[in-house]
Amino acid sequence: MRVYNTLTRKKEEFVPIVPGKVGFYICGPTVYNDIHIGNARTFLSFDVIRRYLEFLGYEVNYVQNLTDVDDKIIKRAAQEGISASELAKKYASAFTEVMTAVGVKKPSIQPRATEEIEQMIAMISELESKGHAYAVDGDVYFAVRSFSAYGELSGRDIEQLQSGARVDIDERKRDPLDFALWKAAKPGEPAWDSPWGQGRPGWHIECSAMSARYLGTPFDIHAGGDDLVFPHHENERAQSEACAQTKFANYWLHGGMLTIDSEKMSKSEGNFLLLKDVLTHVRPQALRLLMLQTHYRSTFDYSPERLNEAMASLERIETALRNLKWLLDNTAEVPTVPNDITDTNVSWTSDLLTQIERCREQFVKSMDDDFNTASAMAAIFDLVTAVNSSTKDGIRGDTHRMAVDDAAATIVELLAVLGVDLLATQDAYDFSPKITSELVKLAEELTGSLVNNDEAFAITAVLDTRARARAAKDWALADAIRDRLAELGLIIEDTAQGARVVRK
Ligand code: AMP
Ligand code: ZN
Repeated sequence: MRVYNTLTRKKEEFVPIVPGKVGFYICGPTVYNDIHIGNARTFLSFDVIRRYLEFLGYEVNYVQNLTDVDDKIIKRAAQEGISASELAKKYASAFTEVMTAVGVKKPSIQPRATEEIEQMIAMISELESKGHAYAVDGDVYFAVRSFSAYGELSGRDIEQLQSGARVDIDERKRDPLDFALWKAAKPGEPAWDSPWGQGRPGWHIECSAMSARYLGTPFDIHAGGDDLVFPHHENERAQSEACAQTKFANYWLHGGMLTIDSEKMSKSEGNFLLLKDVLTHVRPQALRLLMLQTHYRSTFDYSPERLNEAMASLERIETALRNLKWLLDNTAEVPTVPNDITDTNVSWTSDLLTQIERCREQFVKSMDDDFNTASAMAAIFDLVTAVNSSTKDGIRGDTHRMAVDDAAATIVELLAVLGVDLLATQDAYDFSPKITSELVKLAEELTGSLVNNDEAFAITAVLDTRARARAAKDWALADAIRDRLAELGLIIEDTAQGARVVRK
């Protein structure tokens, strides 16, 4: 597997420090409001990468912090009239809720900055004792010039940075590039005791302290959006390497930004869509398919049209899977001999088995090439097309049945590796309890007998009544049944194998 490393600016063979295990750190959100779909893109991209590593058999220790003390949190808490810690708790749970809703796997460890202050203080003290940090009036700064590799990660030249920084010279700093490790307390702000007096940590030190604590130094993968490369990751790296005097992270993975009308989606620009609002009308699987179409490192320009395309793709896969399930459930067992040994049946089967094999190979090859999800998706779509064409005249014998079953399972399995969970929709009859009870009521009304809260039985009863009505040319009753189902958000599909009920 090859991954693009921001530090070396090239694709490298991925070799973990401990065979079979991956230490993975991803910068988490600052919990001061609800996240937008730009933030979500970054978290979804790395969720897919984590899932793929797990699919390959790696045991991934996935650490994601929550920044729960920060200027923005303090300001917003004052506006909402609650304490900074209450505000952070509120948005931390909101974050967990939307991440669960889009199927992002829970981090293995999710440390909160305010619970890790002790480690941060220890690290700052060590930097101070090693001559990489200095205290001024209760603040502590990192001395950028004491770390010779500063600028390497972001590819910036320290002299150029210096001239850019001159405008904003803080007389107390030894060098304009120096950044805060610890900030002296201001009245009314959350503060902790430290060797430099009451105060709170700077943002960058959080990630250095938490990654060292939970993953050790060095660890394998450090990830985040590419807007964090400078200064956040440059500073994290400087602190961590200066402190441990060893490499910090072996591979730096950065995700591209989500833009809208070519502008970065951001809270401050006001051009954002909150993830929780989008999820009121977009299924998470569709949102994930949308994101998977673009390579994680490229910029992704969001548009409603692209979202519609993703919804249509989802529909296409689900329809195909529903058709397959229907065929598998409704084709009578065919004896293996002699039906199954005709030339055509054997070739139908072996063609499909070849397609399944090809799909798996193409999927792994694409993902092994710096997680090319668009190409991996194309492999899955090719298999959807292949199995559709293989079954257009139904299922031909038992070996064909097994191949069709395998194709459907492969599609579901590989999509799940990308975090698109179709298991819930694979079963056509899997309605909410409310819909089920309404269906049962309708069936009882139409048949005049009790249906015992059995969903499948109710559907069969409704469809049978409709079939009888149509046979008797009672179009009024047939239409009424269709309308009643439509009120429940269900439609009747007439297929070669008979009618069935599906979600709209
Ligand atoms: P923040 O809470 O601003 O630190 O952002 C949390 C995460 O979202 C970071 O990893 C950022 O890189 C990422 N992020 C912020 N804006 C965008 C965007 N427009 N597109 C993709 N990722 C973003
Ligand atoms: Zn970080």
